[in-house]
Amino acid sequence: MSELTYPHLANSMTRLGTETAFSVLARAKELERSGHNIIHLEIGEPDFDTPANIVNAAKEALDAGFTHYVPSAGILEAREAIASEVSATRGVDITADNIVITPGAKPIMFFGITALCGPGDEVLYPDPGFPIYESVIRFVGATPVPLALRPEMQFRLDLDELESKLSNKTKLLILNSPHNPTGGMLTPEDVDHIARLVANKPIHVLSDEIYGRLTYGDIAQASIASRPGMLAKTLILDGFSKTFAMTGWRLGFGVMNADLAAAVAQLQTNSTSCTAAFIQMAGIEALNGPQDEAAAFVAEFKRRRDVIVDGLNSINGISCQKPAGAFYVFPQLSGFPIDTDTIANRLLDEAGVAVLSGSAFGQVGSNSMRLSFANSIENLETAVNRMRTFLENLR
Ligand code: PLP
Repeated sequence: MSELTYPHLANSMTRLGTETAFSVLARAKELERSGHNIIHLEIGEPDFDTPANIVNAAKEALDAGFTHYVPSAGILEAREAIASEVSATRGVDITADNIVITPGAKPIMFFGITALCGPGDEVLYPDPGFPIYESVIRFVGATPVPLALRPEMQFRLDLDELESKLSNKTKLLILNSPHNPTGGMLTPEDVDHIARLVANKPIHVLSDEIYGRLTYGDIAQASIASRPGMLAKTLILDGFSKTFAMTGWRLGFGVMNADLAAAVAQLQTNSTSCTAAFIQMAGIEALNGPQDEAAAFVAEFKRRRDVIVDGLNSINGISCQKPAGAFYVFPQLSGFPIDTDTIANRLLDEAGVAVLSGSAFGQVGSNSMRLSFANSIENLETAVNRMRTFLENLR
């Protein structure tokens, strides 16, 4: 849980969690300011610049006066561009009415879970998993039901476990493929199977597909929205942050049935009002403009993946799966005299390598660490060498 100390907070705030990536980043920056050299493998963002055509589209939109409020669900032209992209990539037939554009994709978690779940509802979610899922599930008073992802299964869901945990209280199933923090992916057959399990039940699926274009050719990306009976029950979360190196722009969206979209848009009216107009216009350029830079990002991530996986596996006591997507590795540690939280802290303080302990993502991964390989090959090699020296000295 978060460490909130203000004594007058509402009860619900005691249930709100957080994302430690941001606090580790802050501590790493502090160490840098005091003269330490730090390699940042903690935060989940591409290290590339946003492609120039997208930056220019934002500038042009500012000059053209896209500086006012726009409808809460998003600018029609932007929703239409997103609808064609999603229709083409997921093989489904959707329109602008199915889209809500948000400042980053993260609000879709908050809005979607708030719109669908409350006390008495059970929500199935991956463990390890993006920490905000469990945080929001608890915040709205619903019951979190973790689904373990294990390295022996390449971090795919255990479908028997999923089936055994479905109950008549299950309201929502959260999927995330490619997956943060493990880089694991569901196979198309997994997705078929999951769809068969839930299609005839009153269960929605929040399918977090933010890393959907960051895959390395091992497993085909599959969206459960395209499976029979699933389109109207699936809320796809996606956005621009990871694909186009646009984390700081805050531009994401949800895809869902039109009635749910109206509710999610109303939550936006009640909170942010709308997503910045000129940023939405830049999003249209990101989708409709040249895609060569986005493709080059993926090719570069693939080279880096091989460097970090081989490097980590050459360290005694570390075992690392090769991720099929996203830009994270989630190696397991064994045989060290101190726990993984302490190792992660000391790696930052003593070796200048910022990583996240697996415990930040749930119970199941607490003997693991998450490392982002969104960094140069040279830095990844230096980080591996620093880790090797530090970990060998621990034994
Ligand atoms: N979903 C997952 C699994 C993520 O890892 C992230 C960001 O780290 C997001 C959603 C949120 O993306 P955004 O930065 O667009 O809000």
